[in-house]
Parts: sequence; C-alpha cells; structure tokens
Amino acid sequence: MSPNTDTSAAVAERPKRSARPVQKKSEGQWALGYREPLNGVEQFKKDDHPLNVRQRIIDIYSKQGHDSIDANDLRGRFRWMGLYTQRTEGYDGTFTGDDNADLLESQYFMMRVRADGQRLDLARLRTLAGISKDFARDTLDITNRQNFQYHWVRIEDVPEIWRRLEEVGLQTTSACGDCPRGMLGSPLAGLAVDEVLDASSALDEIVRRYIGKPEYANLPRKYKTSVSGLQDLPHEINDIAFVGVNHPEHGPGLDLWVGGGLSTVPHFAQRLGVWVPLDEVPDVWEAVTCLFRDYGYRRLRSKNRFKFLVKDWGPEKVREVLETEYLHRKLIDGPAPEPLTRVRDHVGVQKLKNGLNAIGVAPVSGRIAGSQLEKFVDAVERAGATEVRTTPYQKLIVLNVTDDKVDQLVAELDKIGLPTNPTPWRRSIMTCTGLEFCKLAFVETRRRAIALLPELEERMADLNAQLDVPVTVHLNGCPNSCARIQTADIGFKGQLIEQEDGTKAEGFQVHLGGSLGADLGFGRKVRQHKVLSSELGDYIERVVRNFIKQRTEGERFAQ
Ligand code: SF4
Repeated sequence: MSPNTDTSAAVAERPKRSARPVQKKSEGQWALGYREPLNGVEQFKKDDHPLNVRQRIIDIYSKQGHDSIDANDLRGRFRWMGLYTQRTEGYDGTFTGDDNADLLESQYFMMRVRADGQRLDLARLRTLAGISKDFARDTLDITNRQNFQYHWVRIEDVPEIWRRLEEVGLQTTSACGDCPRGMLGSPLAGLAVDEVLDASSALDEIVRRYIGKPEYANLPRKYKTSVSGLQDLPHEINDIAFVGVNHPEHGPGLDLWVGGGLSTVPHFAQRLGVWVPLDEVPDVWEAVTCLFRDYGYRRLRSKNRFKFLVKDWGPEKVREVLETEYLHRKLIDGPAPEPLTRVRDHVGVQKLKNGLNAIGVAPVSGRIAGSQLEKFVDAVERAGATEVRTTPYQKLIVLNVTDDKVDQLVAELDKIGLPTNPTPWRRSIMTCTGLEFCKLAFVETRRRAIALLPELEERMADLNAQLDVPVTVHLNGCPNSCARIQTADIGFKGQLIEQEDGTKAEGFQVHLGGSLGADLGFGRKVRQHKVLSSELGDYIERVVRNFIKQRTEGERFAQ
C-alpha cells in the first residue's frame, strides 16, 4: 500500500476547515487602528488633503492650463471643489478604466454649486445666471439634491467663478468627493402651513461650522444630509436625516435616521429612535459624522458608504456607540413621524402660513439655461418677490408672492417656458446627467427626457384628468442611480442592449413600483422588461394605461 493511499489517520488529525481561525480582512476602519490606505483613493487622500487642491487651482492650474494638472488632482481631489471632468463631446464609448480615460475625458469640467436648502435671493440667482452665460455656454441644471450644475467650465475661469459665487455667499466646496455633500432642506422651511418646525437654523449652522473643515472632509465615502421640519424631502435615502416630529412630552423636534443611500445596492435609512431638539442638531450631526469617519469601511470603494456599516451594526449599536463614544450622554427616546402618502414637489400655487403664496415651476428634468434663469428672475422681481428655493425634485419655488401678483407671475412664467400647472409628465420626469456630459453613462437621459416629453404629453393627453395620483418616471444613465430610479413608480436604468443582429443599442432595464413615504419600498426589477430608448414612449404609455384600467379607487402606483 502506498503511503499516499492510507490517509485516514492524517485526515483524522487534520484540523477541520471550519475550525481554522478565519482571517478577516481589515475594512480599513480608523477607529480600529487601520490607518494605512487600502486603495488608491485613500492613498491620495492621505498624501495630501483634498481640500488643499483649491489653492493649487488658484495659483497654478488656472494660470498654466489644463495640461499642468496633476492626475490625482484632476480625477480625484478636484471633486472636493465640486469639479468633475466632463465627457468628450461625441465620444460614444463607455468607461472601462484608466486606459481610455484620455479619449473619454474632455478638457472641460462639470461644476456643482451647493445650495444647502438656502433661500436664494435675486442677487444670488443673477450671479448663477451670469456665470452660466459667461463661462458655461449657457448651461445650468438643477440637481435632485437642490444644487446647481454647470458644464463646459474651463480651468482658467474657475477662480473668477468662485470669486463671483463667494461674493453672494455660495460655494462649490465639498460639493463632490468623500465629504458632506450639498445638504437638503425644506423648500418651504419657515413658511409651510403644516411644518413641525423651521429647521433652517440647524442646517445653516451645520454648513457654517463644518463645511470646508479638513476634519470632516476625509470620510470613507460621500455623505448625504437632509434636515427638515416638513416631510418634503426624500429623507429615507440620506446617510443622515433629521425629520420633524412632535414629541408627546417635549414638543417639536427632529427624528434621526441613518444609513440610507441608493446607488447599485440600495438601503433605506433606519431610525435610531431618538428625538433631537432643534438646537442640538448640529452637535448630533457632528457626532454621527465622526462616527462614520472613524468606523466607516475604507477598503472597498463599493462597500464604504455609511449604509454598509449601519446594516452590519444595526441601529441599536449605532445609537450605543454614538451615545457612549461621541456624545457622552444619552439621547431622548422619540416617536416616528407619520409617513406621507404622496410626494410634495411644491409645483403650483399654495398658501403660506404668513398669508402670502409660494409658486412652484417645473423645468424639464431640472434644465434651466442661464438666459432662462435671467428671465425668471426678472419676472420674480416684477412681481415684487425676492426669494426662491430649489427642490430635490429639480423644481424652482418662488416664495412670498402677494395675492395681487399671483396671476401676473403665473402668466409670465408660463410665457418663458416654466409652467406652474405642468402636465403630469413634465412634473414627474426626473433624470441624471447621462451621456451628454457624464463619463460613466451608457445612454442619454436628460436630453432623452426633453425629447420624449412632448411625445408623452400627446400620447396620454386623454389621461390627464384620470391621473389623480402622480406616476413618477426617473431615468438613469448607468446603474449608479443618481436619478433615484429605485424609488420611482417607473424607473429606467440605462444600459446597452444586445439586439438580434449582435449590435448594441441604447436602452433601459425597468424597475416598477418604487416609493418613498407611506408606501416605502424599492421598485421591482422586471428582468424581462428591457426597453430600447426608441421604445420608451410606447412602454410608458402601456404601463400607465394598464395601471389606470386595473386600479381600484384611490390606489397609488406603488401600492
Ligand atoms: Fe452619470 Fe450614472 Fe450618475 Fe447618470 S446615474 S449621472 S450616468 S453616474
């Protein structure tokens, strides 16, 4: 017998596979002592803090031009100043890695200006419009995080753009990158008839204290915040959200949610079950942010949003660590806010608690050129109003319009292509940037929506009166979900679809029945529903007509 055939004794002595200690890979959590970078992004963040790039842009790159820009600044640290490289015009390949980055990348930038839920006075709006016309080929989009985005920005012009923005109290700092991005605030804060409280003071204080400070600007990944005393924001999909709620003993305050986010692995935020008084919100925000900074995963870029830590720990442990290690005190238990049954996009005319009116308009998927914004501001000024806010549904709201000026302003806004009573389709379409400017895109989205809208309006004109509930239609250019497809009634995820002859065409994977609020849930991916871009109108009409035919009275799409 060969020694190799009688293995029974050796097998018996060999430790069982499962009994071996499992070597768990470090997730790079700072709080556990792992400070060595585990990927390229962590490395360049450690080599030089990304916020330092601002001075290099002013002193070197804007003077010496695009070719002088260091690669880690260009594709990395620039994001911390709200700058992304823009896709080359007409390049229809897709991003497969750094090898084709030169082809894909133009010498122009997308620039994001954060709004942080602030009221925008007319001087701010005129500045935004002027920059669009002078430096961005008249482009200007309102994002679904209430921010503004320009395209075609040249590095040479960035210091002058910053100078103009900062003169009116606006900034691009931390608008992108692994840091606290532009924050959501209620468009009607301080004015809504039914808000629990006005949370703007807390939001303003968070921005004033923490934005632009290096200690809060090297997080494991992007970090999205929402603070509102009214449920008119998609708070469930933010990394941290404060939602207005009345406590039976303590009165109005805010309910704290953590760990929401969409992208390719969607999670809804979870309640920690605490009630936070308004004046403590900035401190609690800081504590949660530091917890994420210290305990968040820094190894895999695909696994380092806050949602993954919250999922692994659960809300109880997050609360315990928050209280014991960061706040050094207990938080007050609190009730859940009553969820809303429909999205509040504030389009149309509504009464405010001061007796004045808010008027909301719907640019198509947030696109409003600088020249159109100028006309909008002129109309607002003629109506005697002085302030405007953006919404996370890519809309613009004029605040505090007197009764006698409402009709005049509505008529003027209509005339410049910003209707206050838009069709359901104009109101409900939301898109990301898509192939027009985004390097990650597979398909056209915003331009597709703008072209599709008249077709939808014509095809379904007979349904307008029957549609007493909104049917939201969101388009993404890739799986990254910048346009929140998983929470739309009809969500389209851009991809290339192989055709019978082996060629590939632009199309979308369909997700149906997603919702925020009372019907909270992610849309169901309908595997067999892949739609070519050219068939979008047909598909949407078919789904909507079926819904109307089969629904029971009052039934919402996601129910
Ligand atoms: Fe770009 Fe994809 Fe985001 Fe659209 S969803 S803006 S294509 S990354």
